Amino acid sequence: MDNSNNICPVCGFASFGKDEIIYEILYMFCHCCSFQFNLDDDVENGFMVYRKKWIKDGLIFDFKFPDQNWSLAQALNQLNNLQYVQFDTYPKYVKEANRLWTWEYDPQYVAYYWHMKRQSF
Ligand SMILES: [Zn+2]
Repeated sequence: MDNSNNICPVCGFASFGKDEIIYEILYMFCHCCSFQFNLDDDVENGFMVYRKKWIKDGLIFDFKFPDQNWSLAQALNQLNNLQYVQFDTYPKYVKEANRLWTWEYDPQYVAYYWHMKRQSF
């Protein structure tokens, strides 16, 4: 994993260009979870709040790739990228706003909402 600065701190999607620094780009959004940087992170614990909502909504992959086959296994694999997010490189105000940020998540919790959402379709 050599692009750890480009990983979405909400969903783990490696959505950004290798040389881009996410917090310096106004209103850049994640192509997977639709998190909008410098907007959705402007609330207390925005990363964690948004991640919980994204999971409860069924982990919708927002960007519609042709033939995208978004699976639970892929979602869990992607969430595992969160451990490579270099949270220490974020500006102080972002770190303070997201003081509860953690890369940890409960795979059973994720799987539960994945199956709940799919049954309701
Ligand atoms: Zn994301």
